[in-house]
Amino acid sequence: MTTETPHANEDRSVARPAEFDAIIVGAGFAGLGMLHAVRALGLTAKVFDDGEDIGGTWYWNCYPGARTDSESWYYCFSFSRELLEEWDWAERYPGQAEMRRYFDFVDRKLDLRKDVQCQTKVLSAIYDEAESRWLITTDRGDRVSARYFISAMGLLSEPYIPPLDGLDSFAGPCHHTARWPQSGIDLQGKRLGIIGAGASAIQLLPVAAETADQVTLFQRTPNYVFPARNRPMNDDERRDIKNNYDTIWRKTRTHGFAMPFDSPTNRLAVDTPPQERLGIYQEQWEETGGLRFAFETFDDLLIDDDANETAGQFLRDKIREIVKDPETAELLVPDNYPLFAKRPPADHGYYEAFNRDNVSLVDAKHSEPIEAVTPAGVRTSRGEYEFDVLALATGFIPFLGALEQVDIRGRDALALQDKWDQALRTFLGMSCHGFPNMFMIVGPQIPFGNGPTLAEENIKWISACIEKMEREGHTEAEVSAEAEQSWADETNEVVNSTVVRHGSHITSWIAGTNIAGRAQNTLIYMGGADNYFARIHKAIENGFPEMAFSGAAQPGSAQRRTSA
Ligand code: NAP
Repeated sequence: MTTETPHANEDRSVARPAEFDAIIVGAGFAGLGMLHAVRALGLTAKVFDDGEDIGGTWYWNCYPGARTDSESWYYCFSFSRELLEEWDWAERYPGQAEMRRYFDFVDRKLDLRKDVQCQTKVLSAIYDEAESRWLITTDRGDRVSARYFISAMGLLSEPYIPPLDGLDSFAGPCHHTARWPQSGIDLQGKRLGIIGAGASAIQLLPVAAETADQVTLFQRTPNYVFPARNRPMNDDERRDIKNNYDTIWRKTRTHGFAMPFDSPTNRLAVDTPPQERLGIYQEQWEETGGLRFAFETFDDLLIDDDANETAGQFLRDKIREIVKDPETAELLVPDNYPLFAKRPPADHGYYEAFNRDNVSLVDAKHSEPIEAVTPAGVRTSRGEYEFDVLALATGFIPFLGALEQVDIRGRDALALQDKWDQALRTFLGMSCHGFPNMFMIVGPQIPFGNGPTLAEENIKWISACIEKMEREGHTEAEVSAEAEQSWADETNEVVNSTVVRHGSHITSWIAGTNIAGRAQNTLIYMGGADNYFARIHKAIENGFPEMAFSGAAQPGSAQRRTSA
């Protein structure tokens, strides 16, 4: 275990790479949680992150209106009771600034930043089979070697910039929402064009409309949007939550989407009389809001098309009720896919914003598709719209985008991308055959659900695997090809029993169909986070039967490390 850093005036091309036990890429929930866990094993780690500061998603997504879609009290680390006790959430759904403050708080408690090197993009990670080590290089000239290479790069971190003609020609500021300038953009008196109508656009539009002179949203596909019903948290609520954390985390870890919701155990929309059903939807819409609308109403919305249609109809009626101009309302109504074939966003005044005089909607799918971005704005088939600022709320290259930025090569110099070009296969979204000692946190083929909890469960499995290797003196851990294939098969199969399968006919990141020109991949395991967590725990308890461990034992190494 060494942490030697090459001397400043040494020639880096000949210097031995600095050595760590683990290199982690990404300083969001996943990377920071992993750093803490690796330290707890008595090992050395370094985290690289491209951003100027820690926070991952919550560093990058600083567009006006950015806030979580999960409630604050479980969209956080759960591993430390001290962190849970000492942090007071200000809002039900924290905004980006509050999330940044939370990461500062976590850093103050755990002293994480000292092992994080920001503004550093990892370029390559190459496995050296003779040494059983990964050699990692960065755009800042770092060459480091590690026993374990851990990707914590995030599932929605690589912005998707669609191939729009003339995009570079726009004369004013033009930014993807996930690359919004950290210093902000003054929208006062400006004309803002937003391309896209997903979760990012839905948050940006109502907030921007309060300041900008004019906001125009170019929508291709409308979404089903639930009201979030955000509110400030009060002391009583915070106390109540802190007193009930055991229950909250138990519920979270036994819920299909890793959220502490009260499932409507076996209440089915198709078996509920229409008036009663309407009352249940109405109550959730008015009182509760957010994703609870889908998960606390009926148990069959995700698996039964008829049940799903009852919720879809309710939501479509709500849009028509809220949006005053009937033509605009009709454009906002999703009409060719079921709820949850696209990931439904949470709303903070989105539909109401279309009742403002300074907000307009362009039907970029049917009546006037975008033809090009011009120096002055956006040209559609009907004419040109002039803007001062353009926002690309066009989403992400899910799961694969960030990994593709790094030249990752495993055994026999096989590139991860080449492996996945044949067929996307992972084991539990965390490990790949042919890539020993490499782990992914929230990698492809993990369940859909509450991000920090998914990351923490992945970290448990990865830490336990590393701990076993250190304790038993193994040099390599590699998942078997059979276990990997079996997980990929199950992932591909289970999606067909849910409404997400309809995402193959539209553009939907959760269905792996949002990137123009790319073949569809099943990126998400739809068999439930609760089932997935059970698999993780079983694998740990049984000593990782799907992994092959190799290398001679090095007695005493683990004791030396943990007592360091
Ligand atoms: P998204 O849901 O993938 O939406 C991208 C939008 O861009 C879609 O409306 C898409 O239209 C449009 N688009 C793409 N290419 C286009 C083109 N060439 N011309 C016109 N429009 C184009 O992306 P997102 O809004 O960034 O959200 C992605 C995910 O990030 C969310 O589902 C969520 O999981 C996460 N997110 C979370 C939060 C939160 O928790 N608060 C906030 C933001 C994002 P089509 O629909 O027709 O393809």
